[in-house]
Amino acid sequence: LEATMAQSQKMQAVGQLAGGIAHDFNNVLTAIIMSSDLLLTNHRASDPSFADIMNIKQNANRAASLVRQLLAFSRRQTLRPEILNLTDVIADVRMLLTRLAGTQVNLKIEHGRDLWPVRADLGQFEQVVVNLTVNARDAMPEGGDLIIRTRNMNVDENAALTYRDLVPGDYVLVEVADTGTGMTPEVIAKIFEPFFTTKEVGKGTGLGLSMVYGIIKQTGGSIHAESELGKGTTFRIFLPRFVEEKQPQVLNADGEAVVTE
Ligand code: ADP
Repeated sequence: LEATMAQSQKMQAVGQLAGGIAHDFNNVLTAIIMSSDLLLTNHRASDPSFADIMNIKQNANRAASLVRQLLAFSRRQTLRPEILNLTDVIADVRMLLTRLAGTQVNLKIEHGRDLWPVRADLGQFEQVVVNLTVNARDAMPEGGDLIIRTRNMNVDENAALTYRDLVPGDYVLVEVADTGTGMTPEVIAKIFEPFFTTKEVGKGTGLGLSMVYGIIKQTGGSIHAESELGKGTTFRIFLPRFVEEKQPQVLNADGEAVVTE
């Protein structure tokens, strides 16, 4: 799945827009919520206006929650990368993921051995796994399996043909696979676009996967989705292996490396 230039420009525009107006908009919504709270205390539940005021408050709350997500979306611009072992990171959020997945979903985590380190923002990477878990749960209303797998992977020229935005090299692969509804090719083509959602109003914002996409791209990685209707979906995230930078070599006139103290 290829991300077009237009898509990343669109995401940048949304990010800037979000950062600019979301904060002010949040204040406006807070005022609306507080005023409707006041009104509610002055009306009995039997009053014909009560339900209307309640409606105003609920919708303002919904708008506020959308704005919060927009703010989170625009904040992704500032990453604080550190050296991470994803085995540890995923182990640390296991409880949270289990809770998010719910009792219907059977969460399995399978770690590859001796995972290479990666350089990524811890909070943002956790957000990625959380978003993918929530989507997987939503795709399995009747329950099912959610498997999170990690392993080291050398992407050679051949594999780079399948994953066209990857340059050959060492990567840590994180797979998030569900046995849910799956997606049509038309849906897959749009999932990373901001505000694309197939969920009903109030359930989905369409920002989850565009956020995921932005975070992975900024980390120098790539994300791919493979899906089959009625079978399930697998998201594959490739993050480049972190390798300690070597001191630049100094060569003498004969082209031999000079050891500097
Ligand atoms: P939202 O979850 O708010 O709809 P996302 O950007 O996270 O926004 O997802 C966009 C859309 O991609 C979803 O509405 C859904 O149609 C589809 N999708 C994402 N993950 C999955 C999945 N695991 N299985 C099936 N469809 C999915």
